[in-house]
Amino acid sequence: MSVPKHRKTHSKTRMGRSHEALKTVKPNACPKCGAPKKPHIVCKECGTYKGKQVIKTKADVLAKRDAKRKAAETKQREKMSKLKNK
Ligand SMILES: [Zn+2]
Repeated sequence: MSVPKHRKTHSKTRMGRSHEALKTVKPNACPKCGAPKKPHIVCKECGTYKGKQVIKTKADVLAKRDAKRKAAETKQREKMSKLKNK
């Protein structure tokens, strides 16, 4: 491994560090839902990237869960009504 010949001055260190600050990323509008999103990242609101559905959103998961619960409830109700008729 090479060893530096001269010590780096505080000034040179600080001059180099002036370029290390993180820049803020300007959000873009999602082409599908219009919500602000970071560029090159999946939209959290609708779960799309480049016009394709990539991830499930919370709303999708909740809707599927509710549908499943409703189906189970109706099945249970039918079962109970059959037992009552006997
Ligand atoms: Zn979106």
